[in-house]
Amino acid sequence: MIEKWVNSNLSDTISFEISDKMAEKADILSVHTEDYHTLVEKTKNYEGHFYFDADTAANRYSYEAAMQAVQIGTQAIFESTKNSSVFCLVRPPGHHATQHTPQGFCIFNNIAVASQIALNKKKYQRIAILDFDHHFGNGTAYITEANPNILYISTHADPRISYPGCGFSDEIGIGEGRGYNVPIPLGYRASEADLELCFDEIITPIITQFKPEFLAISAGFDAYERDPIGVMGVTTDGFAYIGSKIKEITNTLNIPCAHYLEGGYNINLLPELVSAYISPFIKENKMIGKIDPALTARAETKITIQHSKNELTDYWSL
Ligand SMILES: [Zn+2]
Repeated sequence: MIEKWVNSNLSDTISFEISDKMAEKADILSVHTEDYHTLVEKTKNYEGHFYFDADTAANRYSYEAAMQAVQIGTQAIFESTKNSSVFCLVRPPGHHATQHTPQGFCIFNNIAVASQIALNKKKYQRIAILDFDHHFGNGTAYITEANPNILYISTHADPRISYPGCGFSDEIGIGEGRGYNVPIPLGYRASEADLELCFDEIITPIITQFKPEFLAISAGFDAYERDPIGVMGVTTDGFAYIGSKIKEITNTLNIPCAHYLEGGYNINLLPELVSAYISPFIKENKMIGKIDPALTARAETKITIQHSKNELTDYWSL
């Protein structure tokens, strides 16, 4: 069953899909190890909760849900066009899952699998992943760290005060992929005013220079100011601002993009936050994100950005 919601204006839309179609095992193996796939598959037969680690559990339905999330994510990268952008409302999220481990509520890395399959099938040759979840997407970073065909940029809470404890400015990739991982750690209560600096000084210039053919977004909403597990300070309008900046990049580069739900634990307000974020992608919607003048970027963000620039100076003009 696939149901598709498309905004009435077909020339500039965002769509939501509900699907019970599962990915193939071969899709999972484009990123994850066979042993890991087998471990997750076995949870189908487990009564109760199987804990992979302290905070990532599965029950007998989780394998199916995780395989569906990968399938939707892969469809999204093939179905998104310059005029129609797919938002994957999936759980479990994916950006903490590494090649061989689940982590941080994530089982399979939806965005990394989709990106790798698109590269393998030569749908695209260069893909940029932008991750604005509160937490560093360590799984996506490890999977892509040696790959110069996938640019991974993440804004996240400083690993000294937040899970998963990595994502410092100097973790910029390895081997041929050096310079193609760009972690931007932000301090306590960082808001859209801090993110504005990140977009203007690092994110937009690097993506523009990389010239991706596709932009995949790890859209996490736990950077929200009232998220129960977050320490950042992005407002509802801030997510509309982030959506506007991403739309601006895709318009400038004339490329499609798709969005993958990651974190976001204020469940009552999550629909409102997602709505604010996608509003710039809906042509008829007049709500375009603006930053409240009362919010200003903190001095430590300027220092962080300078650290990142210093690390990346050999790879990008910043
Ligand atoms: Zn998160």
